[in-house]
Amino acid sequence: MKILSRTQFGNPILRKKAMRVSVADLKKRSFHKLVEQMFYTMKKANGVGLAAPQIGKPLQLAVLHVHATKFRPDLEEREKTVLINPKILRYGTTGEYDWEGCLSFPDVRGVVPRATKLDVEYTNLDGKKVRETINGFTARVFQHEIDHLHGIVYVDRMENMLSLSMLKEFQKYAR
Ligand code: ZN
Repeated sequence: MKILSRTQFGNPILRKKAMRVSVADLKKRSFHKLVEQMFYTMKKANGVGLAAPQIGKPLQLAVLHVHATKFRPDLEEREKTVLINPKILRYGTTGEYDWEGCLSFPDVRGVVPRATKLDVEYTNLDGKKVRETINGFTARVFQHEIDHLHGIVYVDRMENMLSLSMLKEFQKYAR
């Protein structure tokens, strides 16, 4: 399968609000193929989430696969999820700080405050509206990916830049 080429910070598409996916788009074979290629591209890059602007498409579409990784062996697996036109309906009142990376900021890590609980609504690949309450690290990934669809990247959410690290130094000092 084709690995899609990824946009990196500095590309204006990462700063634009993405367009809604129409019902007609959702039914197209090319759309389903794009979703498959996004999952494949994300897997090859060892990511847990990838939003369409990160592969150069200004669409309200993101794929997620939260699972244990080299850097986060503690993560519980959540089934692969496709978010289409997602909306955060409500943020929980508690938050936490944790490290984040982004496939558009290769080999960089930083500490980001995020809500630990969210109510979200999105359309899935079958075209069904889904409402869900999301917790923990998965809630963090949802917030990170939904931010991408509004032109927001994780460094915008950092309280300051003191923790911003190259991966090599993060491995030495952060753990
Ligand atoms: Zn990202």
